[in-house]
Amino acid sequence: MPIPRMSKIWMDGDLVDWDDARIHVLTPSLHYGWAVFEGMRAYATDRGPAIFQHRAHVERLFSSAAMLSMEIPFTPDELMDASRELCRVNGQDSYYIRPLAYLGYGEMGLNPMPSAVKVMIAVWPWGAYLGEEGFTSGVRAKTSSWQRMNPNAIPTGAKASGVYVNSSLAKLEAIRAGYDEAILLNEHGRVAEGSGENVFIVKDGVLNTPPTWEGVLRGITRDAVLDFAREADIPLTEQPLLRHDLYTADEAFFTGTAAEIVPIRSVDDRLIGPPGPVTKQLLDVFRGVVRGREPKYDHMLDYVSAH
Ligand code: PMP
Repeated sequence: MPIPRMSKIWMDGDLVDWDDARIHVLTPSLHYGWAVFEGMRAYATDRGPAIFQHRAHVERLFSSAAMLSMEIPFTPDELMDASRELCRVNGQDSYYIRPLAYLGYGEMGLNPMPSAVKVMIAVWPWGAYLGEEGFTSGVRAKTSSWQRMNPNAIPTGAKASGVYVNSSLAKLEAIRAGYDEAILLNEHGRVAEGSGENVFIVKDGVLNTPPTWEGVLRGITRDAVLDFAREADIPLTEQPLLRHDLYTADEAFFTGTAAEIVPIRSVDDRLIGPPGPVTKQLLDVFRGVVRGREPKYDHMLDYVSAH
């Protein structure tokens, strides 16, 4: 998806012009994937753009950095101020927000310690990641031949750039085979997650998603959906899932910041069906919350003009 050009990008404390936000080709993160990032969304509300679960995302950025022993030279509040400022100066109603902490130019080699940690934040409007029709008819998913990495090979709980080569290989394979998205199994052969989403199923009225100890990223949308389900008295569990549990699910969906809540129509050509009642109910709540229409969940929104 082409990135629309905005006016400003935040780099290490400065707002720089979009076209001047450049780094050197010998920046070590480009070579070894040693960087951590976040993906957040600011939604259009009656009170202007509001960032969904802002603090949770920034806290996850710091926890990803801690897993890689990177010290981010800013406080969470400073980064939150920067994202809000970017949303204001770029003048759009809604955004995808991408903070990235990486190793700056100057050193080379696999020891990351001598490199200074740099931070950038960019924002731009980004539509439905898995396509608009995904929300209404659901997407076609394929179990990947690529395995989700063992957490002792690389910390899969970190949103670390290098981890995403694994996700991209799975995505590429799925797209080439004519599917919309990949589902990766872990080293035990159990369901882990999508290439950039968590996975949920509904079976006999019970909502289920694999526990984080299956080596999945603890998705912020996943946590929000679990909250919404608890509040709506939808029975839920966090139990390991086998591949055939997907095939026999009554409903299935992906959750993620870019993807939002997207129904899964089929897995490996086994039809699950059009979006079911639980998926629709949770999608309705989610849409209300992010648009600022669910007062009970207003604490999940950070209104950029309120600061
Ligand atoms: N798993 C992976 C591998 C992801 O990249 C993402 C997207 N960040 C998710 C799950 C969903 O996380 P979130 O809801 O916080 O965006």
